Amino acid sequence: MAAFEHFKQHVNSAARLLNLSDAERLALEKPDRILRANLTVKLDDGSTGTFPAYRVQFNNARGPYKGGIRFHPEADEDEVSALAAMMAVKCAVVGIPFGGAKGGVTVDPKKLSARERGALARAYVRAFADHLGPDIDIPAPDVYTTSETMAAMLDEYEQIVGTSAPAMITGKPLSIGGSLGRDTATADGALAVLDALLEDEKLDAVRLTASVQGAGNAGAQAARLLARRGAAVVALSDSSGTLADPAGIDVAAALAGKEAKKEFAAWGAVGGVGNVMETDARLFVPAALEEQLTADTVGALRAAYVLEIANGPTTPDADRTLFARGVTVVPDVLANAGGVTVSYFEWIQGRTGERWELDRVTDALAKTMKQAYREVAGFAKERGVSLRDAAYALALSRLIEAMRARGRV
Ligand code: NAD
Repeated sequence: MAAFEHFKQHVNSAARLLNLSDAERLALEKPDRILRANLTVKLDDGSTGTFPAYRVQFNNARGPYKGGIRFHPEADEDEVSALAAMMAVKCAVVGIPFGGAKGGVTVDPKKLSARERGALARAYVRAFADHLGPDIDIPAPDVYTTSETMAAMLDEYEQIVGTSAPAMITGKPLSIGGSLGRDTATADGALAVLDALLEDEKLDAVRLTASVQGAGNAGAQAARLLARRGAAVVALSDSSGTLADPAGIDVAAALAGKEAKKEFAAWGAVGGVGNVMETDARLFVPAALEEQLTADTVGALRAAYVLEIANGPTTPDADRTLFARGVTVVPDVLANAGGVTVSYFEWIQGRTGERWELDRVTDALAKTMKQAYREVAGFAKERGVSLRDAAYALALSRLIEAMRARGRV
């Protein structure tokens, strides 16, 4: 698969900007450790299921490994490695003291009962417990894992080590040390970056038209926040179809309809169905899948701005086309770093026993994201490069500095 190859292309561009040696570039492309296991779980029908599982610990020069765990039928070593690498970059872009990691189990979670999913979560922790911990490697939720999954994982870990260890995992339920604001952190962070970008461009959100692909955790909150700022959300899609209205759809009603009927296609009351990427909107927010803007599809995009909430929605060749066309792409490693930023705040709360109020979380998140945007945009302007190249260059310079300080390169 191409995911890790894409990461290497981004590293290559950044390494040229930073004049890194080949040895330094290669050191930045290599995961520290790839852990593998086959997880066996007793299934409800009495049989035993075996599921391949991975934990890729990419780099811990700047702090403990950090990254989510996904349960997905297509999770494999290449994808998990690419996502682990992106986590290291993301944490460095926003300047939080974590390295990068990611985990995955190759499984279709929709075919498992809640009990089986809980057993799988516990089996994952038993397999990798020696390599996890508040100062070693801190997991979090990702695709098809939830705060309940994190609760099962924390409980299993604490039984193994025999101590309370709330900082070993983030994205926990509030009742066992989760942080206020964690559930909406990714979209909140992305919108803080958008606010800073609009300020830079002297644009008013009220005059903005936006189309949002994906109405899950992140996309739904992004659409809500755009509408709250007065922007017209002219298209909003899920896997069943797109709601579109050039005058702006009623986001709250659309999301309530989706909640009631499960998907937009079953709830045709707002707008028509069209292609969300080709909609005439100033801003496109991919918040669903990877590889949406490709050499084949990029020609149809009409937006002047792209805010990448999804991981890897733009291929490197589409990225070059967009830069040449003057489209501003806020890259995933900056735009969606709000989730891991609030995970960092949750980790601090787990270590200190403090409970932060929601205002403290949202203020600190907005400050962190805006500061990161200003640093990235400043670099991009100075060097005449894209925001993605600038974000990678800044992040890799921080990573390489930490690796040099430790004598690793
Ligand atoms: P989710 O599973 O809650 O939502 C995904 C949404 O995408 C669903 O509404 C689904 O219907 C929709 N979708 C699927 N296929 C589609 C298609 N072909 N066209 C339009 N919509 C489609 O996931 P999420 O947590 O919101 O994550 C979305 C993306 O954001 C992923 O790439 C994820 O890696 C990234 N991300 C999420 C977070 C987070 O904290 N939630 C953090 C960082 C990055």
